[in-house]
Amino acid sequence: MSIFEKLESEVRSYSRGWPVVFDRAVGSRLYAEDGTPYLDFFAGAGALNYGHNNPVLKQALLDYIARDGVTHALDMFTVAKRDLLETLEDKILKPRELDYKVIFPGPGGANAVEAALKLARKVTGRESVINFTNAFHGMTLGALSVTGNSMKRSGAGVPLVHATPMPYDQYFDGAYPDFLYFERLLDDSGSGLNEPAAVIVETVQGEGGINAASLEWLRGLSDLCERHNILLIVDDVQMGCGRTGPFFSFEDAGIKPDMVCLSKSIGGYGLPMALTLIKPELDVWEPGEHNGTFRGINPAFVTAAEALRTYWSDDELEKSTRAKGERIGAALQGIVEAYPEANLTAKGRGLARGLEFESGEIAGKVCAAAFERGLLMETSGPDSEVAKMLPPLTLTDAEVGEGLEIIDASVKAVLGK
Ligand code: PLP
Repeated sequence: MSIFEKLESEVRSYSRGWPVVFDRAVGSRLYAEDGTPYLDFFAGAGALNYGHNNPVLKQALLDYIARDGVTHALDMFTVAKRDLLETLEDKILKPRELDYKVIFPGPGGANAVEAALKLARKVTGRESVINFTNAFHGMTLGALSVTGNSMKRSGAGVPLVHATPMPYDQYFDGAYPDFLYFERLLDDSGSGLNEPAAVIVETVQGEGGINAASLEWLRGLSDLCERHNILLIVDDVQMGCGRTGPFFSFEDAGIKPDMVCLSKSIGGYGLPMALTLIKPELDVWEPGEHNGTFRGINPAFVTAAEALRTYWSDDELEKSTRAKGERIGAALQGIVEAYPEANLTAKGRGLARGLEFESGEIAGKVCAAAFERGLLMETSGPDSEVAKMLPPLTLTDAEVGEGLEIIDASVKAVLGK
């Protein structure tokens, strides 16, 4: 029995589908300790948009450590944090005419979500939050209360309250007009819906099964929030930092959320980091009213700033993400059409793509077949029925082709054709 099986809690999950010991990682590839390479269509669940050990970011990090740059600093002023804030303002916020203040909420995505939910409640004096079917926002109690997945919710041990789920885009396959139920409940004083502080939404639901909301639906949601004086929180933890093409996944919809949660790839190098961006008028917390020890991991600020400078000074990455995403989307559609009897669906936007199968069992077999062929790809969706592709945005065209060939062969191996 390995030390992992002996000592590590049974709660571990990814290591079950990929039962090898990884050692090195470069670009779009991870290597097991015996040297076996794996093409990574998982990318740290979206934390490695710029690839593993990206050479530009690695050099910035090595230089910073070599000169004894501050590593840990709570929320003290540091040179690294100044550089990050200036770069964020210059490269991201100003060009998009976005006016946000920045909260450093703690190291992970759930920290960014907790801060947004707490602040929305504090600002509005209301406790109820609207979330969406199949949403995923993290594993802490606040974030879990606005998460849909029943298996994940069952880990809480206490009632998950103060949240009301509404149907996400296409939940009824277009049978009802968008927001029919939501708006009716808001307008009806007898509906029993408490006046919400906020709506929290993912533009593309990653863990929920790569469900991409239409831009029209997102605009409709933003309008609804404005009409009803509800704060709009976009959780861009997984779909931000260029995953769908633009830096923020909501840019194509032309909306300006009241708060934005960022984590995963914002640190650039896979180091823990998160941000909660808030409209200035929402900046009402007293000094220290929201706090935490690991809010200033300065090496992550260094790689974050370097990533913004390197990849967001022009639109090259955005254009290549869109093009590669289209290519993968078209290839997945080809697979769908090759197996009409299997009822497959191709899903996604940008480089967040999915292939939905009739059951979690089939999707799991396809991911296992892909692993045998040297490709890392996880499942998502309420029944794990979607094979999910989330490669580094920096993967080469040749790697796109290689991944697609493996996916094709894996589907063929499982569906038998
Ligand atoms: N929000 C979204 C949309 C996510 O996809 C995730 C993680 O997958 C989280 C929040 C939680 O982030 P973390 O796991 O870093 O707490």
